[in-house]
Order: sequence, then C-alpha cells, then structure tokens
Amino acid sequence: MIRLKSYDDIMRIKESGHILYETMCYLEKLIAPGISTGELDKEARNFIQSKKAKPAFLNYGGFPGSICTSVNEEVIHGIPGRRRLRDGDVVGVDIGIDLKGFISDSAKTFAVGKIASDVQQLLDTTVKCLEAGISAAKFNNRIKDIGQAVFDIADAAGYGVVRDYCGHGVGYGVHESPSVPNYPFRGTNPRMKEGLVIAIEPMINIGGDDVDLLEDDWTVVTRDKSISAHFEHTVAIFADRTEILTL
Ligand code: MG
Ligand code: MG
Repeated sequence: MIRLKSYDDIMRIKESGHILYETMCYLEKLIAPGISTGELDKEARNFIQSKKAKPAFLNYGGFPGSICTSVNEEVIHGIPGRRRLRDGDVVGVDIGIDLKGFISDSAKTFAVGKIASDVQQLLDTTVKCLEAGISAAKFNNRIKDIGQAVFDIADAAGYGVVRDYCGHGVGYGVHESPSVPNYPFRGTNPRMKEGLVIAIEPMINIGGDDVDLLEDDWTVVTRDKSISAHFEHTVAIFADRTEILTL
C-alpha cells in the first residue's frame, strides 16, 4: 500500500532532507586518500546527532553503521570499517536521516583524489540518470517512466543497470511502497499522485548488471568487479511540480 503524505509531512521530510544534505557536504570535505570508512561513519553520526536527528540506517535490519560506504566495485550497503580510501577510489556514501520520525534518503558517489577518466564518465552519466529519473517523476506519469528514463541513458553509454535493488517510497519508514526500479518493467505500475514521496536511486556499473552479496550479508558488489556508481535523492510529487527534498 502506498502511503501518500500531507503537505505538512512533506515539509518535515524536507527538514530531515536538509540535515541529510548538510551531512553529505560535511563528509565531502573529509573524503580524501587516507581516511577510513569507519572514520567517515563516526563523523557522520556525530554530525547528525548534533542536529538533533538520528542516522536512520543504524540498526535498521541490523545494519551496524550510521551510513553506508561502498568503495569501487561495491554497489550499495557497504559497511563502514577499517578500510582506508586510496587515491583513485570512488566511495558511494548513502545516508538516511530520521528527524522525529520523518525519514529522508540520499546517496552520492565521490571521487577520492584523482580518478581515471572512464570512472569519472561513469559518475557523470549516473548523475544524468538520476536527473532524468527525477524529470520523469511527475504527477500522473507512471513509476515505469522513471526506470525507462534512467535505463535509456545508462544503456546508451553501454553500462550495466543494477536490477536486484531499486528505489522506493520513503518518509514514514526507510523503505515503503512502491518499488522504483531503474529499468522498465511489467506489472503493477501506478500513476504518481500528489503526496507521493519516493527515493530515486540509479545504481550503474561500468561492466555488467549482475551483482553478488558478500558474506557479511550486506555489501552488494558487481559480479565482474567493475566499478559502480550510486546517486540518490528523495523527491515529492505535487500536482504542479516535483520537489527534491534532500538539498
Ligand atoms: Mg539511500
Ligand atoms: Mg534508498
């Protein structure tokens, strides 16, 4: 069941999303060769708590980190730890903020030091995928239109579009209906109504679209070990516009 949100509740999710954006900007300044993903996690937790909010992913389904940090071939759900970032890495940072029960969700993949040009191209294209997905997320369009827009751009560039994980409804919980795939699909395909709040999150690989789950039961990696990128925003659908809530 899709839980549409009132205008007031969307504004509360937006407040949560603003703290998320500030957290992302704070971490961006810290990301450099030598810092560990565990240090980033600790910094994020302290920053979020200083804003009187909670890291929504901490203990969610047993997840041990306050944020997800996914390096290189890691697609999503990487657990922060001792790994130190190196020059030429990319690190996907995925953050959920719980502000008095209102949840926002956003992710960004950062370059660490100087990265290869083909990896930069992947990041640029994945940003374009997210932008296209957000443009397709309009009142009365169907959920499938988002996936089509994302897929077309990634596919034209020859990249693999991850199918095993999708965007989702968000706001009252970390994961709500509907599922928002990054590819066109058959089946239940609702039109977007006013008050719909969804996280759109293309996960795009330089290589193939297959992924595996590591033995830690969280980290998702590309099967061919190719580099992966992940960008995400939480957006709200209104009759006359779509608003990004995580800025
Ligand atoms: Mg996320
Ligand atoms: Mg998400």
